[in-house]
Amino acid sequence: MFHKIQAESLTQYENLGQGSFTKIYRGMKCDQEEDGSHQTEVLLKVLGGGHRNCVESFLEAASVMSQITHKHLVLLYGVCMGTESVMVQEYVRHGALDTYLRKHQASSRVTATWKLQVAKQLAYVLNYLEDKKIVHGNVSDKKVLLAREGDLAGGSPPFIKLSDPGVSVTCLDRDMLIDRIPWVAPECVEDPRSLVLESDKWSFGATLWEIFNGGSMPVSSLDPPMKLQFYQRALRLPPPKWMELATLIGQCMTYRPPMRPSFRAIIRDLNSLITSDYELLSDLSPGDP
Ligand code: ATP
Repeated sequence: MFHKIQAESLTQYENLGQGSFTKIYRGMKCDQEEDGSHQTEVLLKVLGGGHRNCVESFLEAASVMSQITHKHLVLLYGVCMGTESVMVQEYVRHGALDTYLRKHQASSRVTATWKLQVAKQLAYVLNYLEDKKIVHGNVSDKKVLLAREGDLAGGSPPFIKLSDPGVSVTCLDRDMLIDRIPWVAPECVEDPRSLVLESDKWSFGATLWEIFNGGSMPVSSLDPPMKLQFYQRALRLPPPKWMELATLIGQCMTYRPPMRPSFRAIIRDLNSLITSDYELLSDLSPGDP
């Protein structure tokens, strides 16, 4: 269940983009309380009336998000139901990590330590979900939102929030599923009903690779038959030069789901990575992870 929000309390502002079935807007929520009215900046995720078959899955995602809280999970205020269904959630200032990384790749702010902090925060929230036996099912850099850019030199780390999974992979048509390669786990492309806790580990591995590759993922620009072949031939993303990172990504992205490590083990491995090793490798081969 989730909190129902009245359409009259919402104002819709500019369009920020779109999801597979949704349109995304910045908005404002106005609440009347005893001491007056309160305005909160929000994010409106609007599922158009044309996607009736996805409504149940969309509301299921909202329901799950309403029942769990974690500092690295986006906060859901509720849902506004009408001809369209609107998820009303906290507005996360710096948007999605993939675009942020591509834009700020060269910035002195985005160091290996910064990337590792982001990866650890993502692993913490996925560990929380794993403990609760909740599968997210749609982890990628696009779903990692940046609430605070951080300034490591000034002692403030970045701060991320994992977004809701949106409409489940079980509702996607085959083209949409293939489009999500290499973030979607191979077992889900074969049969979306195979989505299990282990599938999030594969997606985490791909996300980690993407973070250390500056928000770019070459496999995603292949045409659909080539993407499919990537999985059919059990290919792997090129390993980063940082050996310990490459090992961890390789373990997460193994084609055998039971062999993937728990998020507890992933956190332990991330904690043992020493970023000075990475900086040294970057110096040796500029621009190459
Ligand atoms: P899909 O089903 O395709 O995964 P979706 O409908 O769940 O997508 P998202 O991918 O979560 O939509 O959002 C699309 C884009 O909107 C994100 O990449 C991000 O740029 C922006 N966005 C989403 N949620 C927020 C938020 N809470 N605050 C700020 N920007 C957001």
